Amino acid sequence: MQHSGLVSLTSRVAAVVLLLLGAVAAGIAEPKRPPPQATAKVRVYTLDCGHLFFYDMGLFSDTGEYDGQRGAMPVPCFLIRHPKGDLMWDTGFGDLTARQLQDMYGPFGILATPRTPLTRQLAALGVSPDQVEYLALSHLHADHAGGANLFPRSTWLLYRNEIAWATATPAPSGVAPALFSAYRTAKVEWLNDNDHDVFGDGSVRILRASGHSAGHAVLMLQLARAGTVILSGDLAHTLQSHKHRRVPLTNYSRAETLASFDRVDKLIANRQGRLIVQHSPEHFAALPKPPPSSTESGPAPPKIKTVR
Ligand SMILES: [Zn+2]
Repeated sequence: MQHSGLVSLTSRVAAVVLLLLGAVAAGIAEPKRPPPQATAKVRVYTLDCGHLFFYDMGLFSDTGEYDGQRGAMPVPCFLIRHPKGDLMWDTGFGDLTARQLQDMYGPFGILATPRTPLTRQLAALGVSPDQVEYLALSHLHADHAGGANLFPRSTWLLYRNEIAWATATPAPSGVAPALFSAYRTAKVEWLNDNDHDVFGDGSVRILRASGHSAGHAVLMLQLARAGTVILSGDLAHTLQSHKHRRVPLTNYSRAETLASFDRVDKLIANRQGRLIVQHSPEHFAALPKPPPSSTESGPAPPKIKTVR
């Protein structure tokens, strides 16, 4: 992996040198490159892994823009199907009960309700959790790692510093270590400071994007039709938070979050891609879903005006 990384780095450096020489010779700026092509057929299924409702969205910006506003957020998780195997990206609330969620979020004045169990949604796609090769979590907050223990037979792709942060005593706000305890017995591929190419062909890559938590990551997909798509984790919680680079009140490092925004936005621009803000109701509504039979159960979410 390292060797091919070096080769591609070397060829990229060579390409940049050639472009610069060409630009100097012609006296013009670097031409816009075509977006990269997909190398394998990758399918993405967006699953409904819960919903969040807030009486006060103020905690999603440390500069006050959401103070006093109500809001609702979907909690999606994603099944990525690659010819070499399946990857779960985030697990939302998984199969936690409404009571468990209320116990967790009640003290914060936040109501969270799950809808259809994740296992049933996967079954509708013909997948059992035991068949999913890889599990990766953008970070270990309960609304992303809540269903992680459903995947004890998967290989967990974990950043060391994220686990260290999330298992500290006392636990950071929003983290419930019991929800991802299966990592202790599961097969774990430990990730350090680098990005990780899950299937080795560049089509599904975990990118370091720390700041929201110590080892926060985003998932960059190269899709045949949609091109480059980056799943945000909690880099941004709303479309406006992405546009204006707003940082939540509870956040590991403001400086790292801003640097991660910078990196992701440059990647999006250079690859002519798009960022999916996972908690955005607008993006969630627009993403293709599995068959309706897998998502129609559970209580309908209450109607609350949404912050964009
Ligand atoms: Zn979070």
